[in-house]
Amino acid sequence: MRTIAFVTQKGGSGKSTLTSSLAVAAHEAGERVFVIDMDPQQSLVQWAEMRGLDDVPVNAVTAGRLPATLAALERDIEIWGIHHGYGGLLDEPGAFPSAPRKAPPVREPKAPDGIWWCDSLRRWHADDRLGDDAFLRLTRYRAGDKGPVMLATGFGMSSHSFLAPTIEQNLTEFLADCGYDVWLFDYRAGIDLPSAGTEFTIDDIARDDWPTAVRKVLEETGRDDLQAFGHCVGSVSLQMAILAGLQGIRTAVCAQFPLHPASSVFNMVKSQIHTADVLGTLGVDHVSPDTRPSLRDETLDIALRALPMPAEERCNQAVCRWINAIYGCTHRHAQLNEATHRAINDMFGFGNIETMEHLSLMLRKGHAVTHNGGMDYFDHPERMAGTRLLLLQGMQNYIFHPVGSFRTWRWLRSQNPQGDYQRKELPGYAHLDAIVGSRAAIDVYPFIGQFLDQP
Ligand SMILES: [Zn+2]
Repeated sequence: MRTIAFVTQKGGSGKSTLTSSLAVAAHEAGERVFVIDMDPQQSLVQWAEMRGLDDVPVNAVTAGRLPATLAALERDIEIWGIHHGYGGLLDEPGAFPSAPRKAPPVREPKAPDGIWWCDSLRRWHADDRLGDDAFLRLTRYRAGDKGPVMLATGFGMSSHSFLAPTIEQNLTEFLADCGYDVWLFDYRAGIDLPSAGTEFTIDDIARDDWPTAVRKVLEETGRDDLQAFGHCVGSVSLQMAILAGLQGIRTAVCAQFPLHPASSVFNMVKSQIHTADVLGTLGVDHVSPDTRPSLRDETLDIALRALPMPAEERCNQAVCRWINAIYGCTHRHAQLNEATHRAINDMFGFGNIETMEHLSLMLRKGHAVTHNGGMDYFDHPERMAGTRLLLLQGMQNYIFHPVGSFRTWRWLRSQNPQGDYQRKELPGYAHLDAIVGSRAAIDVYPFIGQFLDQP
């Protein structure tokens, strides 16, 4: 890697112009170029945004982060080579880790008061054996009269992540103790559902899955409205659903993934190399961490080892490394007990490339855009006026920088000054550890409970 720096104290001397011109020229000459903007004015970042192409990626980096960013870039270029070099091995569609996932053990607060799944014709079935075309699942634990709360998890996961048996109290048990009627919601990405293997985008989850499931819960409970919690894709799709016109959500607690997602430097570098695109180009149509290694997996694992990773989150457990590399660093190791760290392998599964591409588009755009880049979800902020919203933010989230949820909070307040919008920072937490961390029941769940309890 060659590094060229343009440095002078004087403004208007042509640093940015020279840099951008040279970067494009180098790109056209066949070089891979990465531009680092260290000027607080960020005119190169704006230039890249206006230009609207990502052939010459630009990243704003502070002086303190420069050595780490340069080191990460150095390693990325190696990865690029490895992916291409071993492309032939990965070239078999659908043959990426293929062993069936074993469902992780769960601990329920009580026996379920019903399990329903929805078929492709939008008919619900009260049955725990899923049909071949099941694309939604609802599991009910009616523990009291406080009314229904729906819980939606992240991408590549199952709602069983709310039933983790490896921590003293999981979120479902906590809300049951509070007296809620808890509804675990698996949307079509739920890894236990056959639909996880189909292609879809987050728009489908927002515009189809949420409304279909909310209607069912209101019908079963006879209520006019309900409360909902979403983690990661469950969070952003819930906010998108309301902005697309979904009614009946009185309260929304949205964890980690806001309407204005901001990438951490770590993930920025990763989304600039378009992990999803690379896998797609290689003919890999889904990613699925698995505990049974094969030659193919080991080859990819070697490539993943080279991904930039905060030193304290490097891990010698291959599947954990996979999850962190593919989805972004999902947890701080310091927050997980050993049993949960082992169990996390079984919590993740099949994720389709189309959804990953939509996700990485949102991160690059910094907004919850539609899958083709449209700003449709921002056309009707008034639709959020009647919903109380709490944004939960891990302050060490390696995937979503905390400033993103701040932007969403500020945007909502400016659009609906009468609205009840709150943002709660979670120091020491990254992402998934706010749900399955060993101290989450003490550090995190009470904020969820208090917000839901308010009238
Ligand atoms: Zn680990």
